[in-house]
Amino acid sequence: MKCPKCKIAEMLPATYEGVEVDRCPRCEGMYFDKGELEHMLVSRSAEGVDRSEFTVLSDKHDMMVGRCQRCDVEMRPMVGHAGLRIDRCPNCGGIYLDQGELAAMRNA
Ligand SMILES: [Zn+2]
Ligand SMILES: [Zn+2]
Repeated sequence: MKCPKCKIAEMLPATYEGVEVDRCPRCEGMYFDKGELEHMLVSRSAEGVDRSEFTVLSDKHDMMVGRCQRCDVEMRPMVGHAGLRIDRCPNCGGIYLDQGELAAMRNA
């Protein structure tokens, strides 16, 4: 599966806390299936999963509309935890986070 945002790199599976997420090795965006993000936000050992800071790259990515890698439909922006703009698939409820967003949510 290609990254919904940069559309170049293949997403790589990574397991944190028994939750398998897909991570882009290029832009460090992460894709969560429905319900997985909530788990990552409360799990203490998810600390350090995303050490990224917001960068110019992630800011630019933030304005892009990604396509759900599972359903191939356009993801819709929504305001999530900490007032961040996140992308959610209206079909399967999957959520894509840009680099730094998970860390920002956890620190909120
Ligand atoms: Zn990417
Ligand atoms: Zn979807």
